[in-house]
Order: sequence, then C-alpha cells, then structure tokens
Amino acid sequence: MRYQIDHDYHIHSFLSSCASDPVQDERYILEKAKELGLSRICITDHYWDSAVPGASKWYQPQNFEHISKAKPLPQAEGVEFLFGCETELDKHMTLGCPASRFDDFEFIIIPTTHLHMTGFTIDEADDSIEARARLWGERLLGLLEQPLPFHKIGIAHLSTCLLNWNRQSMADYLATLEQLSVTDMERAFTKAAEVGCGIELNLSDMRTAGNALHTVLRPFYVAKACGCKFYLGSDAHVPAEFEDYHEIYERVITALDLKESDKFHLAQR
Ligand SMILES: [Zn+2]
Ligand SMILES: [Zn+2]
Repeated sequence: MRYQIDHDYHIHSFLSSCASDPVQDERYILEKAKELGLSRICITDHYWDSAVPGASKWYQPQNFEHISKAKPLPQAEGVEFLFGCETELDKHMTLGCPASRFDDFEFIIIPTTHLHMTGFTIDEADDSIEARARLWGERLLGLLEQPLPFHKIGIAHLSTCLLNWNRQSMADYLATLEQLSVTDMERAFTKAAEVGCGIELNLSDMRTAGNALHTVLRPFYVAKACGCKFYLGSDAHVPAEFEDYHEIYERVITALDLKESDKFHLAQR
C-alpha cells in the first residue's frame, strides 16, 4: 500500500521566535489538520531547556515553560494532537533537551543540520562546502550513538538549506548535498534504522522539482535502502507554509516509492 499522508509531526506555533504570525496558534493548527485530512499531528516549537547550560541568546527564551504555553492542546474528533518540541544539538554535541524532560514530550525532533548558527552549532573555521558536508555525517552519527529514547525521536530536515545558508546561494546549498559521502550516509542511516528513530520528510525542503528535488532527496534514497522509517513534517511556521501540502508530498512519495511499510510509527498513547 502506498504511503498515506495522514500525519504531520513537525509544526511550529507563534511561540517559536522565528514564527511571525500570531494567527498560527494551537487552535489554528488543529483546524488546518482537519482541512488537510490528517489524523495525528504534533506541535514542535523550538526548545532549549533552562537546565542545560550553553543556550545561545536566541534559544534562551525558548525554554520549557515558554513552549508549554501551548498546553493544554485542543483536541477534535478524529485528530490526535501531540505535544513535542524541536530541540537543538550544539557544536559540542550537547542536546538542549535533558533526560529529565524526555517524559514531558510525546515526540522530540532533533535537527543535526541547523548549521546557520555560526559559533553555536558550527565553528567559523568550518564554513566551507566540504566541512559542512563532513559535519552532516559526523553530527548525525554522533547523535545516534547517544543514549536517547529513539522510539519517539525524529531527525529533522536532513536536506535543509540551513546546511549552507550563510551565503544564501542555492548553488552552494545543492553542492553541499552533492558532497555528502555515500559511506557517511550509509553508516549513519544503518545506525538510524538500528536504533529505530524516525527520518523526517520536510515539506519546506521539498518545494522544488526536477534535478534540484533529486539532489534534495539524495540522502533519503540511501536512508530507504538502509531500512529507515519516515515521517512527514511540514515545519510550517506560518499559515502559508501549509500550501500545496498534498501535491508536494505525493511527488516525494512517488519519487522515493514509499509504502506504508516505510512509515515511522510513534507509539500510541
Ligand atoms: Zn529546524
Ligand atoms: Zn522546525
């Protein structure tokens, strides 16, 4: 059976500092899920816990107390609304979510590719295509070797333009993806399949077609061959970022030839 578009586990509300539209609150998100025909969604605002030293200035206000303002989450017939977060992995491989908070979330998204935060997630000296491609593999594998509750962890946007955003050049971004070594990808995705985390298909990264889409999907062909499981995450920060939802995901599902058996299943409550 073809992979069904029935969930979205990566959605931001206005509680994320980079989400600029107050319209996008938990009620709006729930209504949008109904409109899109989704039966399971998760709110995942940016998060670094106050108990973990080293938050960047940007992350300091994004603590647990702040993102918890979304609770209690509204519920509706036929839509399960989960509470999660998108935490962070700094350049020392420190996670912004401490073990003492794992039980407070139903899903935890970890981005290894927020390489736009120079000084925090990446050293200035590593600002080259080659270094960024190398860090892609090192950070992903390093994360997967940590003792984490992988049954409820998703690896965010492995093809995001944030990988090489500083120069804001589409060519540099795509070149970084082309540089990812097959060996690094295979090693990391074999480990990901073994620990059982979810691999995210990020809507905003996949709003492209033709050769660029093929490049964006490059890691995911390898992930599939390694036996990884995939979840959908729009990463919508504002209402417009839900546009063309089904069209984009159907194109990706066709390109990767995804079946229901390739889906990541978050444990039921
Ligand atoms: Zn992100
Ligand atoms: Zn996000």
